[in-house]
Amino acid sequence: MNINIVNLNKTILKCKKCPRLVNFIKKISTDKRKKNINDIYWGKPVTGFGDINAKILIIGLAPAAHGGTRTGRAFTGDKSGDFLFKCLFKAKISNQASSIDLNDGLKLNSTYVTNILKCVPPGDKPRIDELSNCSKYFDNEIYNLKKLKTIIALGKVAFDNCVKFYKKKYSLNEKIKFIHGKSYLLPGNINLIACYHPSPRNVNTKLISERMIVDLFKKARKISMN
Ligand code: SF4
Repeated sequence: MNINIVNLNKTILKCKKCPRLVNFIKKISTDKRKKNINDIYWGKPVTGFGDINAKILIIGLAPAAHGGTRTGRAFTGDKSGDFLFKCLFKAKISNQASSIDLNDGLKLNSTYVTNILKCVPPGDKPRIDELSNCSKYFDNEIYNLKKLKTIIALGKVAFDNCVKFYKKKYSLNEKIKFIHGKSYLLPGNINLIACYHPSPRNVNTKLISERMIVDLFKKARKISMN
């Protein structure tokens, strides 16, 4: 059953459907990492955020252990988020070039950000049953984004899981392969764009550059906003 975004996010925050993930979040939030030893961790599932009238949806696989799981917002408070928001700002998608915490004044322009899985999995590896449990929330988010035109999937794992979700929901058979910058048309006339993950590893190995990711975001804006 689909519910509105406010109630959906309230439900997500209380969700305890995946005991392994609930326990993992608890462990991260009490053990903490040295750098954040004095921080109070969010320690709950992380909902999506942004403009509910969004034409663009940016998705990752799951919140980061000491990023989203600490701050309470996806791609916030870690290096991947730092890079991502620098690029989103340059592409005129966000009002500022950083995403630090829930009270930093960040606003997104016609864009919503979420993760397919709302809880961080150990080793960034979710189980099939966990993805299946959480897919109804992702489904519900897409239902709520009535003006959605484009999904940008950050990283191959998020991309593949998004494709899996659509294949299951619409019994699709087409081959959809992760190729950075490539766009596919999904049911509902939604463009799915593959984008390398903004991780420090991809930045340091020069697999991605700011220019490359900004250009991809600008392209997404162009095809979505008209
Ligand atoms: S991953 Fe999703 S379904 Fe599982 S506990 Fe977290 S919010 Fe609930």
